[in-house]
Amino acid sequence: MLNQVADGVWVRQSEWVWSNATVVRGDGGLILVDPGIDGSDLIQLADDVDQLGIPVVAGFSTHPHWDHLLWHSRFGDVQRYATPAGAQAASEAREPAQRMAADSASGIPLELIGLLTPLPADGGPLPGEIVEHQAHAIGHAAVLLADRGVLLAGDMLSDVLIPLLDPRRPDQVGAHETALDRLGEAARHVDVLVPGHGAVAEGPEVAARLAADHAYIDALRRGEEPVDARLRQGWLSGPHQSNLEQARHSSG
Ligand SMILES: [Zn+2]
Repeated sequence: MLNQVADGVWVRQSEWVWSNATVVRGDGGLILVDPGIDGSDLIQLADDVDQLGIPVVAGFSTHPHWDHLLWHSRFGDVQRYATPAGAQAASEAREPAQRMAADSASGIPLELIGLLTPLPADGGPLPGEIVEHQAHAIGHAAVLLADRGVLLAGDMLSDVLIPLLDPRRPDQVGAHETALDRLGEAARHVDVLVPGHGAVAEGPEVAARLAADHAYIDALRRGEEPVDARLRQGWLSGPHQSNLEQARHSSG
């Protein structure tokens, strides 16, 4: 089911890690941001999009992790964009992304994973403004739709996922601090925040999301154990431990 969160912005959530696919109406038609996750999700999203009666003109991937690199033939053979760094990283990571998709969910069209084009400097068909940063994944981009009051955050500012440091790159604590500053600046223009995973935040919840990620990263910076409600989910203890380890090494 597509849930309209603002003028020309709809969200469909998958059961798989509460993943959000976002549909954005641009000048020429619809842009699908991070469609997912499993085959039946993608087909239902295609059905929902058909009902809107507006053609899909492009896709956009917020960052080159497998669950943000998906596509389905029913969306049409249109360009799928990412930041230039994100598109490059996705093309290098296609095979592992295909393996992870096959292992994690059923019915994903594997041959369509990660076929991305660098977004032109003028944004091409994607409305709004790209907020690129170095946290979580190479070429990670949020999309600020200031005229609709919406920020699409990718894998940041979630109520279910803690900040996930990119294990392959140094100083991810610093990268998150910079990213949160940029996202905080962008969030001044919005009252709706769509994270890649979890609930859509509205009104004062937007600032609360920023505060929660800031508090987590601040604790890592100080070498302390974060107090974070999201950590009550047992499945996050592995990623949390690896964050702690990485923070210790990069500050040492
Ligand atoms: Zn991710």
